[in-house]
Amino acid sequence: MNKTALITGIRGQDGAYLGRLLLEKGYTVFGADRRSGESGNWRLKELGIENEIKIIYMDLLEFENIYRTIERIKPDEIYNLAAQSFVHASFEQPILTSEVDAIGVLRLLDIIRTIKPETRFYQASTSEMFGKVQEIPQTEKTPFYPRSPYGVAKLFAHWMIVNYREAYNMFTCSGILFNHESPLRGLEFITRKLTYGIARIKHGLQDKIVVGNLDAKRDWGYADEYIQGMWLMLQQEQADDYILATGETHTVREFVEYAFDSVGFKIRWEGQDVLTKGIDEKTGKVLIEVSPEFYRPAEVELLLGNPAKAKERLGWQPVVKFEELVRMMTEADIRRVIEEKR
Ligand code: NDP
Ligand code: GDP
Repeated sequence: MNKTALITGIRGQDGAYLGRLLLEKGYTVFGADRRSGESGNWRLKELGIENEIKIIYMDLLEFENIYRTIERIKPDEIYNLAAQSFVHASFEQPILTSEVDAIGVLRLLDIIRTIKPETRFYQASTSEMFGKVQEIPQTEKTPFYPRSPYGVAKLFAHWMIVNYREAYNMFTCSGILFNHESPLRGLEFITRKLTYGIARIKHGLQDKIVVGNLDAKRDWGYADEYIQGMWLMLQQEQADDYILATGETHTVREFVEYAFDSVGFKIRWEGQDVLTKGIDEKTGKVLIEVSPEFYRPAEVELLLGNPAKAKERLGWQPVVKFEELVRMMTEADIRRVIEEKR
């Protein structure tokens, strides 16, 4: 029988890809939108699914609104992707971040416990919960040590997922996803900030990109593959928690070098820390500068995930690795910039 899914955060990167996947699988897909305006529609438009998703208005801050929505739709599966998802902003807005990313999840869980406890529930947990990592690589058993209000809020939600599963026997899963990127990634994240900025530099629309900590290491995968893992988690016999990661880690500096390289620039580095400059070998122009503005009050220096459990139990394995991901993103942004120039 045709299943019904509710995706919160439908206008985000993962929401768009997951919406497409579930439509392809024959689901009726409701997408929860907090009404942030038409411009937020670009990802669904880019994937050509904006008319197929049934958009409903729902904000994780408003209990009654969520209650009525779930009562009306009674979904078989809920994918909770909505969040204040930007770590840097969470230091500026810790209370809002916690209201949405921690209590918002509890609102949803408690409402489905009341209305339809058999609903299968996916929670978008994050490698940021490992923060100051206690083990390398990180597995589902690695102790958590979050380093931002975002990480702390997500950890609250993670334990609520575990608690509702154990206390009420509900089918709740926590997907501990390492950074995943794509041409649909938001511009505030370092990967898209770089690939879009590089595309603009290539086309003479921008001189340089100003960034923060170049030495942070991330395990970057491809979002369109990660959303398949989310779906698989909800199709198992038992609810459980899984890491999705590539098992490779790279510095921000390597991302800069590789992304520039993919459009024909060679970067030479000069200076240290905030005085670091990335210089175009051919012209001597400064293309990368560093500013304390983009540093975090507490940094997550290294993330590296071990996705062995997801491979063994879900049959999930990432195919796209670092180089291909970077190339895919720069090429997409070059195409976008050419369009924008027309
Ligand atoms: P995005 O930031 O692209 O999307 C998040 C969505 O949540 C946006 O559409 C946003 O709405 C919506 N949202 C924000 N606040 C509220 C609210 N109060 N009520 C309802 N909706 C709200 O994130 P991604 O798609 O990249 O990530 C999806 C989820 O996975 C997030 O929860 C994120 O924290 C988590 N995650 C992401 C990782 C990644 O690398 N991408 C890694 C690990 C976890 P609007 O469009 O109106 O701003
Ligand atoms: P995060 O892992 O969820 O915080 O994803 P981001 O893409 O926001 O950041 C990844 C890493 O890049 C972090 O360690 C940041 O400190 C680092 N970084 C360095 N410069 C920048 C920048 O200009 N913007 C962002 N967003 N991150 C940066």
